[in-house]
Amino acid sequence: MHDIVSLSAAGRLQDVFAVQRRAWAEQGALSVRRRDEALEALAVALVRRADELARAVAQDFGHRSIHETKLADLYPVIAGLRHARKHFRRWMKPQRRPIRMMFQPASGRIRYQPLGIVGIISPWNYPVQLALSPLAGALAAGNRIMIKPSELTPCTSALLEQVIGEVFDESEAAVVQGGADVAQAFARLPFDHLFFTGSTAVGKEVMKAAAENLVPVTLELGGKSPAILAPDYPLGKAAERIAVGKLFNAGQTCIAPDYVLVPRRHEAAFVSAFRDAAARLYPSLAANPDYTAIVSERHAERLRRLVADARARGAAVHEINPAGESLDPAGRRIAPAVLTGVPSDALAMQEEIFGPVLPVIAYDRVEEAIRFVRDRPHPLALYVFSHDGEFVSRVLEQTSSGGVAVNETLLHCVQEELPFGGVGPSGMGAYHGEAGFRTFSHARSVFHQARINGAGMTRPPYGGRMERLLSFLLR
Ligand code: NAD
Repeated sequence: MHDIVSLSAAGRLQDVFAVQRRAWAEQGALSVRRRDEALEALAVALVRRADELARAVAQDFGHRSIHETKLADLYPVIAGLRHARKHFRRWMKPQRRPIRMMFQPASGRIRYQPLGIVGIISPWNYPVQLALSPLAGALAAGNRIMIKPSELTPCTSALLEQVIGEVFDESEAAVVQGGADVAQAFARLPFDHLFFTGSTAVGKEVMKAAAENLVPVTLELGGKSPAILAPDYPLGKAAERIAVGKLFNAGQTCIAPDYVLVPRRHEAAFVSAFRDAAARLYPSLAANPDYTAIVSERHAERLRRLVADARARGAAVHEINPAGESLDPAGRRIAPAVLTGVPSDALAMQEEIFGPVLPVIAYDRVEEAIRFVRDRPHPLALYVFSHDGEFVSRVLEQTSSGGVAVNETLLHCVQEELPFGGVGPSGMGAYHGEAGFRTFSHARSVFHQARINGAGMTRPPYGGRMERLLSFLLR
């Protein structure tokens, strides 16, 4: 049965790709009018289906806050589609570029052209946003699009397929569902661009598969995003903002603060401020509609193992369960926990946490905190809390990360004018707003020779005139 299902999914993959290839060959890019229409039609469909989508995501997670789905999965996509609709004509405009004097009066321009057929592979943690935000840029640029959403969120993926099917003809955009086997076959298709969001390990596989066809990739990966707290910053405020970033979606956010570096003398006070903040945000856990469950038993078990491993290696585990409830493991809600005294070789400091567990690392001097971040792979996000401009500049100058928020968590990700992406092991390439349009466009250089020009000066037979020109150029 499984083989039959896989075979038919693989067959559909090939069929949709062939339909889009043919449409690209026969009709080329989506017209400006069609882009405009489809960007709005999709936004309207998402507004109309917001409740249904939020329910589907909740069903996939076991429990996911309806408000968080609307805020983080739907709003950024709808805002992104409308932003693209408003601006894509300007983004499309050819840009005039200056030409060196010796080649004048020729002119130079860059024209932005769609790449063709774009593949999007998305993960489960924000199953709507991470499938459709890349689509906004790809569509605004005029491409045809295939999406392979995560198999861990089957209800949402099925609904996404319906919504996309209502707004688009299959030759324009389509969703193909399936498990890891379909994902692998998807990554092997000869797309014109492949956009992947997911783990670093799978990102490597995707890049390998794409390399076979020389398909360019954008990789939006994960990693351990640090928060650095300076001695001058109000502890309570920092703890609250870090708690919001850490506990939103129960920590299953690629840019959640993974661990926090705190001045040693403030360590105990930070733990208690974080406990207070978490308790204010989530006074109870077991039946609190705002507190999201862990997506699968495998991930819940991974988090329990991570905490047990830290404890076994001598870390202190400060569990936060304000109402003192017993949490049924079947519900997959995991109590937030702060870890102190975590050694670097503990799992919690080796792998991306992706859950409501926060290691606190004490530092004595700012150089130590910076060194801690520099010694590790470039993260996707970095958070710094300080009102001291010099402290902030020092951290920004001496570290690297995909993006940064100063005195805040998460919010850099929902700014259309700020490109979003990783660096090194946290990813390559960027999107959102204009950056998405550029990612999915080819910047084609056009040199336009003038009717009367001096190009003859540089042609053979070379002689004295060329000698004089060269001695001028090489002076
Ligand atoms: P994942 O890498 O396991 O899966 C992501 C997608 O890849 C799924 O659709 C899956 O079907 C597909 N896939 C699996 N094996 C594949 C293969 N061999 N070839 C091609 N595709 C394959 O990631 P996940 O568990 O769904 O998501 C969590 C990870 O994603 C975390 O590491 C997180 O940090 C990262 N993430 C990054 C961002 C970002 O914007 N940078 C956003 C969200 C999540």
